[in-house]
Amino acid sequence: MSLANGRPYLAIPGPSTMPDRVLGAMHRGAPNIYEGKLIEETAQIVADLKRVALCSSNVAIYIGNGHAAWEAVNTNLFSRGDKVLVLATGRFGMNWARGLSELGVDVEILDFGLQSPADPDRVSERLRADRGHTIKAVLICQTDTASSIRSDVAALRGAIDAAAHPALFGVDCIASLGCDMFRFDDWGVDVMVSGSQKGLMTPPGLGFVWFNDKALAASKTADLRTPYWNWEPRATPEQYWQHFNGTAPTHHLFGLGEALRMILDEEGLEAVWARHTALAGATHAAFAHWGQGHDIALNVADPRARSHSVTAARIGNGGAGRLRKWCEDQAGVTLGIGLGMAEPDAPNYGDFLRVAHMGHVNAHMTLGVLAVMEAGMIALDIPHTAGGATAAARVVAAATRNHGL
Ligand SMILES: *Cc1c(COP(=O)(O)O)cnc(C)c1O
Repeated sequence: MSLANGRPYLAIPGPSTMPDRVLGAMHRGAPNIYEGKLIEETAQIVADLKRVALCSSNVAIYIGNGHAAWEAVNTNLFSRGDKVLVLATGRFGMNWARGLSELGVDVEILDFGLQSPADPDRVSERLRADRGHTIKAVLICQTDTASSIRSDVAALRGAIDAAAHPALFGVDCIASLGCDMFRFDDWGVDVMVSGSQKGLMTPPGLGFVWFNDKALAASKTADLRTPYWNWEPRATPEQYWQHFNGTAPTHHLFGLGEALRMILDEEGLEAVWARHTALAGATHAAFAHWGQGHDIALNVADPRARSHSVTAARIGNGGAGRLRKWCEDQAGVTLGIGLGMAEPDAPNYGDFLRVAHMGHVNAHMTLGVLAVMEAGMIALDIPHTAGGATAAARVVAAATRNHGL
């Protein structure tokens, strides 16, 4: 007997759950790629991608995952030997930095560790010390998906301005777009990168880069820029094929178009953010409750620095690893592995896990995951304070009251 039989739930931070409507929109024969519905859908998608990022500048679409979109940013903006400051708050920031180094960019990492957000004062201080303005760009993950730290993008823009430094400001929103509040124009972001398979609820396979005219100007002299990755014709195509530098990702586009309609035209972006805030709050409440007097803790202590799309946590004595296995085998829920908190061969590797509450996720899904986790803790004799699932339920109830539902 297994209680896992039934619809499985992949509660990892990407790929996220895909709405049946998104999958349904993809379920069709090959479309005409020269005229008709696909062309119209692409024009709408470009407009909607700008709306979801609150960006009035440019957006380029790539057939590729988040790593591909990183490489698009890296090659469009920089020349070999350029200096870049990466603000790291976990494994993803480090990986972006590594991709840059391997291209021959001179990367300096300001490491904020695995438990706190990027500190604007330290960023300002570092930029002030760069009197010759050799640092060409400052890069940050809004949410580092490994640590679940969320940095304050607007405050970091303020830090760059306070130092009166001309560096470009680039933000990775791969785990946060369509989950956490993000405002490209208002927050003075120059470049932003995201992908289809997390908050945007579409299968992995599309990467996006938003960029303003300052970033566009920088790209004109970047010696790493190559014809395929060049963002300019993709963002301002004279002919349709230039959007994708070849065949369009036809079915992904139909899926993405449906997802963007759901986010922007049906639920509304502010309501999407509020839903993620509530479900993240429920998850945080559960862990805080379980951890009273026990070796269970959220990775990020400051609630303001916690992601609203993913939660990294520790359950000591290998509890996280055992619980993940139990949830998958016994209850049909797959939780995320701890990423970058301990190396896979380290004795404490099994102490970390992540719970995603990202994208097409509602109260019954997140409360279901948390209740399943509590059942697993009981079944496995993992020491915890009983009632985390109820603490989460209280947060959900309060959120519906606050929103007058
Ligand atoms: C998922 C993720 C990436 C990498 O995306 P892939 O599609 O796996 O290449 C990069 N940055 C962040 C913050 C992510 O969450």
